[in-house]
Amino acid sequence: MSDIIQLLPDSVANQIAAGEVIQRPASVIKELVENSIDAGATEITVNITNAGKTTIQVIDNGKGMSETDARMSFERHATSKIREANDLFKISSMGFRGEALASIAAVADVELKTKTHDNDFGTYIHIKGSEIQKQELISCNSGTNFTIKNIFFNIPARRKFLKKNNTEFQYIVSEFQKTALAHPEISFTLIHNNSTVYKLPKSKLRQRIGNIFGKNLGESLIPVSSETSILKIYGYIGKPEIAKKTRKEQFFYANNRFMKHAYFYKAVQLAYDQIIKTDLHPVFFLFFDIEASQIDINIHPAKIEINFENSQGVFNILRATLKEALGKFDFAPAIDFDREGEIKTSYHDKNMPITEPKIDYDPNYNPFDESPKEQNNQNYTYKPYENKKKDLDNWESLFNDFETNDNRSENTQKTISQPEEESYAKTLQIKNKYIVTPVKSGLMLINQKRAHERIMFERFMNMSREISIPSQKSLYPQEIFLNPEDLASLLEVFEELHQIGFMIETKNDDTIIINGTPAYLTEINQKQLIEHIIGALRDDPEMIKQNTKERIAEITARTHSINYGKKLAKEEIQTIIDQLFSSQMPNFTPSGQKIISIIKYDDIENLF
Ligand code: ADP
Ligand code: MG
Repeated sequence: MSDIIQLLPDSVANQIAAGEVIQRPASVIKELVENSIDAGATEITVNITNAGKTTIQVIDNGKGMSETDARMSFERHATSKIREANDLFKISSMGFRGEALASIAAVADVELKTKTHDNDFGTYIHIKGSEIQKQELISCNSGTNFTIKNIFFNIPARRKFLKKNNTEFQYIVSEFQKTALAHPEISFTLIHNNSTVYKLPKSKLRQRIGNIFGKNLGESLIPVSSETSILKIYGYIGKPEIAKKTRKEQFFYANNRFMKHAYFYKAVQLAYDQIIKTDLHPVFFLFFDIEASQIDINIHPAKIEINFENSQGVFNILRATLKEALGKFDFAPAIDFDREGEIKTSYHDKNMPITEPKIDYDPNYNPFDESPKEQNNQNYTYKPYENKKKDLDNWESLFNDFETNDNRSENTQKTISQPEEESYAKTLQIKNKYIVTPVKSGLMLINQKRAHERIMFERFMNMSREISIPSQKSLYPQEIFLNPEDLASLLEVFEELHQIGFMIETKNDDTIIINGTPAYLTEINQKQLIEHIIGALRDDPEMIKQNTKERIAEITARTHSINYGKKLAKEEIQTIIDQLFSSQMPNFTPSGQKIISIIKYDDIENLF
């Protein structure tokens, strides 16, 4: 029997290999632009027609290639970037496999014009389906100019597989954005069918983001930076109010290389937890600088996943860094109460020089610190009363008062110490729903239910941070009948529920018995709470499993906060204001709803 194994002709082998690197016009652009960056270009122009299906031109002012190098560059595994296997571990260039040009030339019609700075003449090479058509000396600009025509001309199946122009163009834009963001020091232009899509001048990262995604987004960024022994993180994250319905404005880079990372994405999401609605996605542009030995860049050409040696550590640092950045932003609600002469505050004291509020955030805030925070945190700017402890007492009674159904008991009345009449701020409740109070910039409206939700949430969180959470045994254990699915999902968080003080057991495969709840959750409707927890498990099982304590605090706060339609006494209004502004995030409820709105004086003026 004759031998049946044969070597594939080069052109076929190249086509097969090309399939890995070049999937669509966008991949050609990615490879060519990366080469231009590696060649030290400071200006790169991408000019395409028909979403790159007809032509793709990439022009750079980089170092160019000699005649021999130009010819060599189309050979498979021809690269100037690594010499030995060891170099693989310290790659700083974008490309290094030496496959891109060979692959592109295998599946398209390629023209190259290139010239080094110290040569008078450049080189022209025309190569199509891996076969050289023409090579000659030409006069041209220094740098490199690639023109790729008719991608997949020789693989009809793949050409047919390309999507509509619109879709292919979206891929190109996305690839272009990824690269342009990583290199604000390079000016980039993208032209499609003769019209300029992007003209991005050399700039700083922040401007680059603004130039790509619009001024509005550029102005709503919070800077992020942290440096630890493990890695350096820098970049920008979007303010909560610009969170998006899609995940298009989310960019992670490791050593300036774009990457996808589902696990780190989760860390970002957790940092924004309770600040934005759960169906919105935060905007972020985050760069990690990390020792090359700490990561494993997947050698597969089209893969953008990167493995981190210590991904748990990076996760924690990332989450804490973002929480801190968000905290700094959020700790400054930019509210300056307009209460001179009415109320003694630490910075409106007549005997003290009036200064700008100095501290916009808690400088002692340590994201790693899980120890309980003082409820009456003294680090915040707004301190309408000198004796915060008093408020706390008020608060307790206020809370009980709300819990015991709107009837203010004699007892409660007494425990609310009565500040002198004039020390009350000008406050007003409207529609039994909003609290209105003047502030320096206008009229502030506070949504009473949401404010209370925030206050309760932080109160619960503070209490649930105690090392061991005491349970309160129920006098009358409650039984709840559950369908098998709900019971199964509740069982998945059983352990967490027990950890935070729930005493629950199952009975007959379809019933749970609540024997006790966390002691800090006194006077709650246990059954209602469990039902809400089950509801949350149905909505987003992953979320609640990761963050059980916070979720439960959130659910409890939501279901047990004062409702609209509740008339508030002056003291109660004051207590809500005080407590809200000593909370960590007065602007948003735990689920990301807006608590405060200000009608600007300018807008009021405009009414007249
Ligand atoms: P890789 O980038 O992995 O080295 P490529 O096939 O993309 O492989 O490119 C092969 C080689 O061609 C590069 O190593 C580089 O020396 C040269 N080259 C490609 N594009 C350019 C360019 N725009 N300017 C200068 N040299 C280039
Ligand atoms: Mg390359």
